[in-house]
Amino acid sequence: MVHRVTFIPGDGVGPELSEATRRVLEATGVQFDWDVQEAGADVIDRYGTPLPEPVLESIRANGVAIKGPLTTPIGTGFRSVNVALRKELDLYACLRPCKWYSGVRSRYESIDLVIVRENHEDLYAGIEFEQGTAEAKRVIEFLNGVQDKRIREDSGISIKPISITGTRRIARYAFEYARAYGRKKITAVTKANIMKHTDGLFYAVSREVAKDYPDIEYDEYLVDNMCMQLVQKPENFDVLLLPNLYGDILSDLAAGLVGGLGVAPGANIGDHAAVFEATHGSAPKYKGQNKVNPMAMMLSGVLLLRHLDEVDAADRLERALAAVIAEGRSVTYDMKPHRDDPTAVGTSHVADAVIAEIERAV
Ligand code: NAD
Repeated sequence: MVHRVTFIPGDGVGPELSEATRRVLEATGVQFDWDVQEAGADVIDRYGTPLPEPVLESIRANGVAIKGPLTTPIGTGFRSVNVALRKELDLYACLRPCKWYSGVRSRYESIDLVIVRENHEDLYAGIEFEQGTAEAKRVIEFLNGVQDKRIREDSGISIKPISITGTRRIARYAFEYARAYGRKKITAVTKANIMKHTDGLFYAVSREVAKDYPDIEYDEYLVDNMCMQLVQKPENFDVLLLPNLYGDILSDLAAGLVGGLGVAPGANIGDHAAVFEATHGSAPKYKGQNKVNPMAMMLSGVLLLRHLDEVDAADRLERALAAVIAEGRSVTYDMKPHRDDPTAVGTSHVADAVIAEIERAV
């Protein structure tokens, strides 16, 4: 079967990483029909936007995409190209597996966590009122009129909406994911003791959803406690289910536990489309130097293969990546004991080593 997949090289170091990733994906023997789409800082002159409509149309048509990082150009009115992409395609679930591979330098070993973060709601909904504006004044007056606590007049305001609808679908996604991938436990994480009507709602709805999945254990932790638990006993957790803000913070914390940005894959998933990408950005200072680590994007490629139900190819690519990491020779500067290690290899060399490993294992 040939898979038609939207392929967005991205900008900054994106094209180098994407090319390396494309090569290892093809080396698995899976047949791809790449629908290459340009987006990001480099296309603004041509399209007047970093996210041209044909890119969105392509992902809508194909239902699946893999992308390199995209720079958010400053001063174009775009808060973030990546956030816009998630909104336009209603990619409400952010998936961040955090797995330790032997050979990655980290304070922790044997971590295999998955973070499921809600992508649209919460304090990231973008409903904000700038201090001193007429709108902020009206909001403050209204709020001071409907409850006892006084909001200072010189306040800025950010609104935190969390809905039953938004929570139900992210919770359902987390449980379905757990079932599909043999995970045993979901832990919902909020600050519901303080934010009863938003985080409290997130718990209440997640509990309801959990009842439909008696085969999967469900528990709850407050986010402050979870930060400590993750640092002390990360092996106690399996899938974490979080609203947007805590999910953003804990995703980076968990990525740090397993070795950092160079090995942190991700995906943004909705009911009609899924976009696979590394967690890191476009590292513009390294653009064109064939230097940065392609592992995170390649691991995102492993997630893509699983999503396409190419389980055997996904396993083979993951094993090849793990072998190259464990050997420690054909890895980029960030995975060497010292960043100026002269034996560090370039991006394309990592792809060569991974392909050799895939072929050796046949
Ligand atoms: P960044 O992730 O690009 O870089 C942060 C640090 O990590 C830098 O020191 C960089 O050199 C290093 N780094 C990043 N990726 C690496 C890799 N693969 N191998 C080795 N080292 C790596 O974050 P930033 O500098 O905050 O952002 C740069 C641009 O990327 C911004 O425009 C930002 O909006 C964008 N961004 C895009 C995405 C995305 O496309 N999903 C995500 C985050 C940031």
